[in-house]
Amino acid sequence: MAEDMYAGMISVDEAFELVMSGISVLEAEEISVAGGLDRVLAADVASRVTQPPDAMSAMDGYAVRAEDVATVPVTLTQIGESAAGNGFDGKIAPGQTVRIFTGAPLPEGADAIIIQEDTDTDGDQITVLEGVAAGRYVRPAGLDFAEGEVLLKSSKRLNSRDIALICAMNVPWISVMRRPRVAILSTGDELVMPGEPIGPNQIISSNSIGLSAFVEAAGGIPINLGIAKDTAESLRNKLRGIAGADMLVTIGGASVGDYDLIESVLGKEGLDINFGKVAMRPGKPLIFGKILGIPMLGLPGNPVSAGVTSTLFLKPAIDKMLGFDAGAASQSSALLGRDLDENDRRQDYLRSTLEVNSDGELVATPFSKQDSSMLATFSKADCLVIRAPHAPAIKKGGRVSIIRLDPA
Ligand code: AMP
Ligand code: MG
Repeated sequence: MAEDMYAGMISVDEAFELVMSGISVLEAEEISVAGGLDRVLAADVASRVTQPPDAMSAMDGYAVRAEDVATVPVTLTQIGESAAGNGFDGKIAPGQTVRIFTGAPLPEGADAIIIQEDTDTDGDQITVLEGVAAGRYVRPAGLDFAEGEVLLKSSKRLNSRDIALICAMNVPWISVMRRPRVAILSTGDELVMPGEPIGPNQIISSNSIGLSAFVEAAGGIPINLGIAKDTAESLRNKLRGIAGADMLVTIGGASVGDYDLIESVLGKEGLDINFGKVAMRPGKPLIFGKILGIPMLGLPGNPVSAGVTSTLFLKPAIDKMLGFDAGAASQSSALLGRDLDENDRRQDYLRSTLEVNSDGELVATPFSKQDSSMLATFSKADCLVIRAPHAPAIKKGGRVSIIRLDPA
């Protein structure tokens, strides 16, 4: 019996390699920079302009020749004005000045700006009270960047600052990775969506919408296919919704119960399974394969199992589709906040809080109850403490590997 239960079970590392080799990088698409938030660049972006295009004033004041104001006070004659968008055409000769504003081009002949607070004016006679060195309050051409300069590299996920920069570079269209379309199908006669009438023996499908949010945070487009009943017909009907998706994620029905239909029913629809069991807790019933031409990840139904397996497998899969050089979820280390017993043959991922102790060291404290149905502690958790198969007992204060849970 014990043998059967674990037959075909593979390690987390083996499962990760199989998932990653079953996922392909998506293609790029051209979009307006206005829609670029959180998108991933598919090509380097070079500037189409030099910024600023010419020397400009950084202040409101007077454009002068620094040598004319080496000794102060000195009175200069104002011969014109240079405003942002409306420069002064002439040239400043010795003894002359031009009224200038922030962002206005520096007139020919001038090499410094006197801020207006340091002047007294009488008609066109401007008395300069404080001298300046050449270059003061002048933004030279190309101070920010030059035409042709590559300022953003391929694979950068764009934030609002990047978008402002791309606009400043006069680049209205950008090449980004297409967002992976991830179809999400929940299964179970017991499930209803939040807010729907709830009958006896029913629970809320927390995972469908939770997983949609996960996919969105990872940069994908969730396509929620709803809830299939535990019948072959319902599952087959819902499966039609995957048209146009890049990946299918199912929730539940992946185990060995009488109503766990994913393997048997989808098998008849062409599901080609790579693996169906992984030596981990939570998350042992985890399926990966290909169906109707797209990769399929069959997550366990328990909400925490689905969440942990998404962190370990779905997130890197989405990263790979987006063209990232995707590795396994990154690990760091922390001190343990409580004693732990010896582990069994499955790799454990313990939901834990993370705090900094008085020595400035990170301390990860697993919750005392680790049932894979417990969403309240999963929501409170900051990290997962990883325990290798057969890891020996470890005392509070020992060092353990952790995976931080993404705040998103
Ligand atoms: P299953 O793998 O279908 O046997 O599901 C395992 C457990 O997870 C059962 O207690 C289900 O009720 C629960 N479960 C399955 N799908 C969901 C879901 N979408 N949301 C919340 N709980 C679920
Ligand atoms: Mg079920």
